[in-house]
Amino acid sequence: MVKCKNCEQEWPANAILKRYITLDIGMDCPHCGKTQYLSKEYRKRSIMATLLIPLLILIPAFFDVSFLTIAITFMAAFIAITFVHVFTLELACEEETWRNSPYG
Ligand SMILES: [Zn+2]
Repeated sequence: MVKCKNCEQEWPANAILKRYITLDIGMDCPHCGKTQYLSKEYRKRSIMATLLIPLLILIPAFFDVSFLTIAITFMAAFIAITFVHVFTLELACEEETWRNSPYG
């Protein structure tokens, strides 16, 4: 459930998908037109989820596991990462960068 921080209206699924695949920093709310940015918390979460991928690639280097186990693990990780990216999307009215945050 993605809500605009300005008008508190829920974004439709196609707008969420567009926000997810677009490379622009900000995207206008389909309801009120105010530019919305990805929140700092969301970006932290998505980075942490994405960092799982290199860890998973290392599994066969340390453990003797079958191809099927690896395939199932990667499928589960892919679903989990997609879930974190798309369903926990959080918006902010201001562009929250690490540079202008007092706590780094
Ligand atoms: Zn709005």
